[in-house]
Formats: sequence, C-alpha cells, structure tokens
Amino acid sequence: MIFTPDYQFENIFEINLDELNDIKTIIFDYDNTLAPWHSSIDKTTNDFIANLANKFRIVILSNSNSRRLENSLQIPNIIIYGNCHKPFIHKIKKIFTHLDIDANKCIFVGDNLITDISVGNRLGCKTVLVNKISSKEHIFTYVWRIMEIFIRIVCNLKNADKGNKCKKVF
Ligand SMILES: [Mg+2]
Repeated sequence: MIFTPDYQFENIFEINLDELNDIKTIIFDYDNTLAPWHSSIDKTTNDFIANLANKFRIVILSNSNSRRLENSLQIPNIIIYGNCHKPFIHKIKKIFTHLDIDANKCIFVGDNLITDISVGNRLGCKTVLVNKISSKEHIFTYVWRIMEIFIRIVCNLKNADKGNKCKKVF
C-alpha cells in the first residue's frame, strides 16, 4: 500500500542505516522531521545531517519556502528544494531526473504518511516514517493528519517506540 512505510523509527537518529544496504541518497522532509514546524534546525540535528552528508547524498524536499530552508540549513554539500507540492509528485519527479537519483538506492524519510511516505513509495524509494517532532503544524497539514488517522487505523500503524521498525503491511 502506498501509505505504508518500509520502516518506522522514533526519530531520525534511530534510523539503522546498516539495514538499508546500497543506499546512495537520503531524502528528508523538513518540518517536524528535522525541526519543529516553522522552527530552525537545532545543533544536534545539524551535526547529524552534516555527518551523513559525508557518506550519502542528502536532499531536503519540503513544501516550505526555499529561502527559509536555506537560512536554517547551513550545511555544505546538501541539496535543498522548497515548494515541492507534496503529496503531488510531478515536481519531485523532475528533481529526481535533474539530480539523476536512482530510486532503488534512495530512502525517503518523513513524518507524514500522505505528504512523505506516499510520495516516496510512488517514486519507488524505500520509505522511513518518523514520529513528528511537535504537534504544531501548518493548517493544511491538519487536513492530511485527519486522513492519516484513518490510514493508521487501516494499517494498524502506531507511533514508533525506540528501536521499533515495521515492514510493509500490504
Ligand atoms: Mg513534515
């Protein structure tokens, strides 16, 4: 099912990259995945992403404004795209072509089943769901969250505990 993640972790720091063999690119959502909604990234997360950028190509795909993301993420060698129009994938498909991303060697990490996990699954990436950092969200995100409640019931998907992972339900 397109809404079901391959893996689920409590937060980005818990993601077990050893299990994800042959990964070249890691895509992250920004709001509530890397930072609380409408906030800047903290130093711990900044250093973690900077360290990952030494081993993987890191791409940030967000629906937020590009300038805001670039001001917050002062990390060399990462690629940032704002205004991505998730959950639609037309713009992200163009980004994949432009960056020559092989979806089979890419993981898509986000906190939202509709705007992140369904996008990654439709593009053919491995998908990782993390718990949202804060309960504050954009007004549009609340609409997706209401839909997400029903999807979570159907998929029997709860928030992740530390070290917990899930396989595809369908
Ligand atoms: Mg998010």
